Amino acid sequence: MIDIKNISKWYGSFQVLTDCTTTINKGDVVVVCGPSGSGKSTLIKTVNALEPIQQGDIVVDGTSITDKKTNLPKLRSRVGMVFQHFELFPHLSITDNLTLAQIKVLGRSKDESLKRGMKMLDRVGLSAHKDKFPGQLSGGQQQRVAIARALSMDPIVMLFDEPTSALDPEMVGEVLDVMVGLAHEGMTMMCVTHEMGFAKRVSNKVIFMDAGKIVEDCSSADFFGKPEARSPRAKEFLSKIL
Ligand code: ATP
Ligand code: MG
Repeated sequence: MIDIKNISKWYGSFQVLTDCTTTINKGDVVVVCGPSGSGKSTLIKTVNALEPIQQGDIVVDGTSITDKKTNLPKLRSRVGMVFQHFELFPHLSITDNLTLAQIKVLGRSKDESLKRGMKMLDRVGLSAHKDKFPGQLSGGQQQRVAIARALSMDPIVMLFDEPTSALDPEMVGEVLDVMVGLAHEGMTMMCVTHEMGFAKRVSNKVIFMDAGKIVEDCSSADFFGKPEARSPRAKEFLSKIL
């Protein structure tokens, strides 16, 4: 589904990713973890070419992101992304937030996009708020709308970058619940998160990064179940969180 092949990336002269390789299969729930500054956000953003890479290649569902012939906007429309800071359009109603990209990017009719958007809003339990504006919702609710908006585009994979880390603690659970539901439905997911409870319970694969390199790429069962078998950096990381 997603083949990350020997990618390297520089910001100017600073090498942020070094020879990263991994494969994500359909239905995988992958947790990306590691110390601050290790390159997790950068890695996840390379998957839909929001950040360009200078070496290697990424193939998403058969399409290479480095192939000049690839229609990147089209590819991006199939890759859902949810960031730390809810990036809803503040001046648009929840309904318009949900339908805009469906109409503009996918060319769906207003009716069709409304139907799909409302279905996804219902899925995250927020139908009653459809006519509000983002500023009238709590952080947790806004993040659930952001997930519903991404799902409205019928993504083949969902990328999450610390979707709960900017939320008040009491709102973390409602967002994680939506993510757990998606995982159980078989959605392919790549999640940067510090929520190790979620990682342990829901993910089937863990990528541990350190200083721009993937230093662990293994099953969650191995990562959490056999910490003694991990690299020194991962062991240290685990000893702090477990
Ligand atoms: P955190 O856990 O703090 O979110 P991260 O693992 O997501 O960290 P990245 O945001 O991917 O790390 O950053 C990796 C490295 O690249 C850091 O040293 C960061 O300072 C640097 N970096 C990130 N974005 C840029 C940029 N646009 N220009 C230059 N350097 C950058
Ligand atoms: Mg980050």
